[in-house]
Amino acid sequence: LAQDYLSKIKQSDLNAFIDVQPDITLAQAKAADALRASGQAGPLTGLPIAHKDIFVTKDFRSTAGSHMLENYRSPFDATVVERLDQAGMVTLGKLNCDEFAMGSSNENSYFGAVKNPWDKQAVAGGSSGGSAAAVAAGLAPAATGTDTGGSIRQPAAFCGITGIKPTYGKVSRYGMIAYASSLDQGGPMAHTAADCALLLNAMAGFDAKDSTSLERANEDYTAQLNQPLAGLRLGVPKEFFGAGLSEEVGAAIETAVQALEKLGAVRVEVSLPRTELAIPAYYVIAPAEASSNLSRFDGARYGYRAPEYRDLLDMYKQSRAQGFGAEVQRRIMVGTYVLSHGYYDAYYLQAQKIRRLIAQDFAQAFTQCDVIVGPVAPTVAWNIGEKANDPVANYLADIYTLAVNLAGLPGMSMPVGFGTQAHTKTRPVGMQLIGNYFAESRVLNVAHQYQ
Ligand code: GLN
Repeated sequence: LAQDYLSKIKQSDLNAFIDVQPDITLAQAKAADALRASGQAGPLTGLPIAHKDIFVTKDFRSTAGSHMLENYRSPFDATVVERLDQAGMVTLGKLNCDEFAMGSSNENSYFGAVKNPWDKQAVAGGSSGGSAAAVAAGLAPAATGTDTGGSIRQPAAFCGITGIKPTYGKVSRYGMIAYASSLDQGGPMAHTAADCALLLNAMAGFDAKDSTSLERANEDYTAQLNQPLAGLRLGVPKEFFGAGLSEEVGAAIETAVQALEKLGAVRVEVSLPRTELAIPAYYVIAPAEASSNLSRFDGARYGYRAPEYRDLLDMYKQSRAQGFGAEVQRRIMVGTYVLSHGYYDAYYLQAQKIRRLIAQDFAQAFTQCDVIVGPVAPTVAWNIGEKANDPVANYLADIYTLAVNLAGLPGMSMPVGFGTQAHTKTRPVGMQLIGNYFAESRVLNVAHQYQ
């Protein structure tokens, strides 16, 4: 199986992979065979997986999609990688992503854009574009992703696969190269909700090495998959269907809601009044945390160092100016600005207050419904290059996903159809399912019943 995927990866022109080491993969596959032969195989033993290049790995390069870490090798494996290894999974390699997970189209990667396998003119989405494209194209049966503001859900939607971002704190961030620590969360990306549930069983759980890891009993995320949907209250937020949502995405979501109603779910209108404020709040908080997290890349401790410099300060400056791409530098500047004396209260503190109000809006909505449904993104995948020089256009496309991270809730994307225009007919539409804290099993159940 591993051999088969490796040869597909070799033939692919999608630019989904950054690092592949066939010898290492095949050695892992042999070890998995041995486990199976000795009767110690679990449900994931021997199954291949590939990791977003935000998770550090001993055996593969760990680049975060950045020139800064182009040849970086980690001395340890991320907890998620370690746990999937322990479950017997076989690593196919490392997957392309936006630099330090900053982006919505994978075009911010130092290693170039990932092509969408459904239509190679289209972006794969971001920042986990390599993960989504690899699964959709059959280059890997499953992948890991990370989601700070939509990076699992949006590429899953654009590539027609399934992905879930768990409740903040369920999956260890240890060894996940930090973007915005209070928002970052890893999760699985695969073809179906059932696959995601199995993967999440292995990935989730308390980790003493992550200070915000939650100490809760482990769950079996497959246990509720077959529960009937009769009486389930589906919250449809009116703010998710206003101006800005493309007609074709709106229509596909409506059809999917009707299909869930046929399965016994009951539609309830809810309101998330602060939906629009999620964009400015997120794009203050995430860069603020990023500017702090990225200060460790100074040319001395990790990765790239400029070849020529005058003195220590100049070495820092040159290394960072040459090592970081334009979007990363933009966010460091925004983040440093909103944290600086005199602006902290006006921007950062205000954004934190909005963050709290957004969480309250969800809490209110969940008194009226069990699962919230809506679009993942306002449109299907756009063309490569179309928004590449327009950061704000990219930020606006995150409108439906950001609030979920600000509140720390579980969110999921599942494929529900395609665009309807001549050039969008093969571009997938994803439906978002948002659950209350720790309701991963519930959203997986809804997606499984639909699928
Ligand atoms: N598009 C968002 C950003 O650029 C989200 C990225 C993510 O979830 N990692 O910050």
